[in-house]
Amino acid sequence: MKKTKYDYGKCDVCGARMREMLIKQDLWIRGNLIVVEDVPAGVCPRCGEKVVKSDIGRRIIDIIENSELIAKSPKILVPSINFREGEAVA
Ligand SMILES: [Zn+2]
Repeated sequence: MKKTKYDYGKCDVCGARMREMLIKQDLWIRGNLIVVEDVPAGVCPRCGEKVVKSDIGRRIIDIIENSELIAKSPKILVPSINFREGEAVA
């Protein structure tokens, strides 16, 4: 475990102190869903608000622009549900 302690300050939403955690960041890139795992972020223990530092955000952009890395990364299947189908069930 690397030490990446950073003070994320207080939550913008509820004012609780943010805690650093590794999160899954999901992003839509040109119509494709990409999940970046173990992203260091400040997470509010009370309301779940997440804050990613700007340098981490830039590294995420580097990662998602690396098509070679994307090509060799494992793929996950996610359910894709049409909203109208969900209505029919309700
Ligand atoms: Zn909060």
